[in-house]
Amino acid sequence: MTLGNRIEALFHSQLREWELLRNNNAGLKAVICKALDFGNFRLQVQCNPARIRSSAAKIDEKSIQQRPCFLCAANRPAEQQGIDYEPDYTILLNPYPIFPCHLTIVCRQHTDQRIEGRIRDMLSLAKDLPDYMILYNGPHAGASAPDHFHFQAGNKALFPIESDLRTFAGRRTVKETAQGCVYSVDEYLRKTLVFRSDSLEWTAVEFESLLQRLRLFQPDEAEPMINLLASFTDGYWHLFVFPRRQHRPSQYYEEGVKQFLFSPGAVDFGGILIFPRREDFEKITPELTEAMFIQLTFTDLMWNQLLNEYI
Ligand SMILES: [Zn+2]
Repeated sequence: MTLGNRIEALFHSQLREWELLRNNNAGLKAVICKALDFGNFRLQVQCNPARIRSSAAKIDEKSIQQRPCFLCAANRPAEQQGIDYEPDYTILLNPYPIFPCHLTIVCRQHTDQRIEGRIRDMLSLAKDLPDYMILYNGPHAGASAPDHFHFQAGNKALFPIESDLRTFAGRRTVKETAQGCVYSVDEYLRKTLVFRSDSLEWTAVEFESLLQRLRLFQPDEAEPMINLLASFTDGYWHLFVFPRRQHRPSQYYEEGVKQFLFSPGAVDFGGILIFPRREDFEKITPELTEAMFIQLTFTDLMWNQLLNEYI
């Protein structure tokens, strides 16, 4: 039995036994969606009221210290069952899903959200779950539990980025070796680096080297602000890296009609924008989306500085 089969079985038994998951999963059917057209690519937009917990999550140090950690085994709902994944993870169903069978893959220890030393685990998960996109949100780039290490995962076919970047006109090769290549995608709202390789080790080493270089841009952050998506298709890994310079756009902190409760993480950068409030969903346009992403992603100057390392 593959890991994917075991997860599917877990999903169906959890739907039977866990009312919260069953209700929120049924609620997904009522979620309204639309697409925003940017010419050579599109973004999906989802109005999902249950995600208000994540979008409005207080992630300052004091709030985090004062709440019981919802990813620790001792505090999880009694109905929530999991599948062990080595070396030290448990695969769980997320009870506040963005898509059916939305997984949270939690470390068995309560330890900080840091990708350093764990990128190989992320790539192994992508290989073991070839139908899924594996997601990582940095501690100040969308993680609602920055104090407890976790990945997320969802059906790969739902993510526009997976098909967008195969033939994307705006991509250019910045590094090419016998083991893999690195693409830069500049005209895609969010500055993106894509690592493509049939070698897990090559991808991991290239990523770790990039992470060190990103540290120079944000020396005061515990970890450079990033979102990651990883998939494994036809023998190749794709690792999508989104360096960030801000967590939330200024519109998040506005009041009244100018406010957008938009708190993006890896799902949004992968092409599925989540708005918990109906009014934001109704108001969003390609122009407003661009005005928000430009605050979150690297500037042209920062991007060129980063890419100069490859030349
Ligand atoms: Zn914890």
